[in-house]
Amino acid sequence: MPFLTLEAVSRESRLAEAAARWDALLAARPDLEPAVALQRQLIGLVVELAQTIEHGRLPRLSLPPKYLAAKLSRGVPALAGEPIPLPVAALRPTLVRLCEELSSGGAGGAADRIRASIEETRMDAGSLLSASLARDQTAIRTGAAHGGLAADLLWLVAELTVSPFAHALQRALLTPACDDAELASALAKWNRGYCPACGSWPALAEVASSHRVLRCSFCAFAWELRAHSCVHCGEEGEKFVTVAPNEERLDRRLELCAGCGAYLKTVDVPALSPFPLIAIADLETMDLDLAAMERGYTRPALRDFGPRR
Ligand SMILES: [Zn+2]
Ligand SMILES: [Zn+2]
Repeated sequence: MPFLTLEAVSRESRLAEAAARWDALLAARPDLEPAVALQRQLIGLVVELAQTIEHGRLPRLSLPPKYLAAKLSRGVPALAGEPIPLPVAALRPTLVRLCEELSSGGAGGAADRIRASIEETRMDAGSLLSASLARDQTAIRTGAAHGGLAADLLWLVAELTVSPFAHALQRALLTPACDDAELASALAKWNRGYCPACGSWPALAEVASSHRVLRCSFCAFAWELRAHSCVHCGEEGEKFVTVAPNEERLDRRLELCAGCGAYLKTVDVPALSPFPLIAIADLETMDLDLAAMERGYTRPALRDFGPRR
């Protein structure tokens, strides 16, 4: 099963699962209290926005299944290079609220400056969010440099804000693949480590019922590779190893690739995480990031899919 359609999840069940996972994380790692407290606020806002978007109307996109199938067969993600109109009026209040939460959660003045530049329209929210949906790090870095803003924080608030929209688009465009033989076949043949919907790298792999399922860090798409190989460069040989940094927790592993120097976290799970709980899975496995970095491995930069229209 190379790609998986996750069931639609209600706001209540997302929040209930999130709360249970934060409680479990805090019981094991009380030192993560500040990070969990901030994530509760951020994820809470993203879940509310996801609810609004799922009950609103998505833009009518002329991206027919045959066209998407042809793109995928060339290794180009479905959304790459598409000029997609964003519901900026619906997203903007969340962008501002996220800045406020990040400000009180530790980012302070850096988050206040981003909020002020959006509220005073020195930074155009529509352009910022479009650049994030297009995964255009260069545009966001340039915008941050011009405005004297922290680039990583600007990337984060834009990504969090637009992620429910990216998730909804992904579901609208690729879930009906089951009804279109050509698109279903193109998706089934997708054997790349980056997301076929948006082009982002997976945040981690969730292993459920012996399926190693890559989970997009942005839109939460779920897919598998045909071989057990490095998701970033395809290495299958002896340069690619899987290790469990904690010998008592063999359910939490690292895939390390000496070929490209990148790593991927893999965790055994009873069920795949719904959107936007991949962010919680990422926080739950922060110790694995540290273990990988101690060994000199990194998460690679986003791929660039060429000139944008
Ligand atoms: Zn994606
Ligand atoms: Zn590699």
